[in-house]
Amino acid sequence: MKAAILHGPRDLRVESSRAPEPGRDEVVVRVSVAGLCGTDYRIFTGDRSVDYPRVLGHEFVGRIEALGAGVDRVALGDRVVVEPNYSCGVCPLCREGNRNLCLARTAVGIDVDGCFAELARVPVRCCWAAPATVADDDLLMTEPLAVVVRAVGRAAVKPGETAAVVGGGTLGLLALQVLRGRGARVLVVSRSSRRFALARELGADATHAVDDGALEQAARDFSRREGVDVVIETAGTAEAVAHALAVVRPGGRVVLTGLPHEPTPVAFFSVVRREVTITGSMIYQDEFPEAMRLVGDGTVRTRPLVTHRFGLDDIARAFAVHREPTSIKVAVVPSSAS
Ligand SMILES: [Zn+2]
Ligand SMILES: [Zn+2]
Repeated sequence: MKAAILHGPRDLRVESSRAPEPGRDEVVVRVSVAGLCGTDYRIFTGDRSVDYPRVLGHEFVGRIEALGAGVDRVALGDRVVVEPNYSCGVCPLCREGNRNLCLARTAVGIDVDGCFAELARVPVRCCWAAPATVADDDLLMTEPLAVVVRAVGRAAVKPGETAAVVGGGTLGLLALQVLRGRGARVLVVSRSSRRFALARELGADATHAVDDGALEQAARDFSRREGVDVVIETAGTAEAVAHALAVVRPGGRVVLTGLPHEPTPVAFFSVVRREVTITGSMIYQDEFPEAMRLVGDGTVRTRPLVTHRFGLDDIARAFAVHREPTSIKVAVVPSSAS
């Protein structure tokens, strides 16, 4: 099979390699369409290290190509969406349901080979049956969508509340739609106004570019009170955390789902004085079914976010385009024949 193999930082080669063979309780999935995300890019550049050689990629939809021993939950040819994280299943965190927090969690495309290949091997418990009426392209973003479904869930948003989404990338544009689906009014806050037309099209009630200044005032104008009830932070920078705390009202909730990799100063004086609840939200626990349902019933539209598509042979361009301001989600289509 053909696979894009990372041999070291920025050393990505499309090569032919041995087709993976499924072990017990594993399946091999023929990848129909895969998504490239910021994590892939950080690994590609060497910013985040992995064991080489490694096949990257963790957002994907495909068909079951081979079954390992003991697999009876899926059949050959089934369309599946893959949940690309699996936990040990036996530690106290796993047993209490916190499998996203398992210290022995395995991430597909990071710890083991992923989906920038024609075939990918995963445990069968990572496979969710794709709803028959929903196309592969619509399901492409189930994984990042599950991330924001969890974040919005942890915010316990109620209909009629005001919410701000910090960040106008893939996660922000998905979070906006999930919040709208819960009946919230949504303000999108971003460093750039580039995505604001799309944010409006996807249901944003208001937008604010941080460069315009007066962020707190924008939140007060929007909420018609001291700030918004809920903030979902998706940008994963120290600056975005500050913006999230600037727009929330006293007594409000901030859910952080971006991962700031730099030291992040937080004015805890203001957190205490205003009784702001800050909650971390890490990937997903059981959110894949709801994510697929939100796509299936039209609450969340993912296709407008897919701005580019490349075959596996052009994956170097896919990584380059990921960094261009015009791209939102770059799709990679590995299998020539299907
Ligand atoms: Zn990702
Ligand atoms: Zn565990």
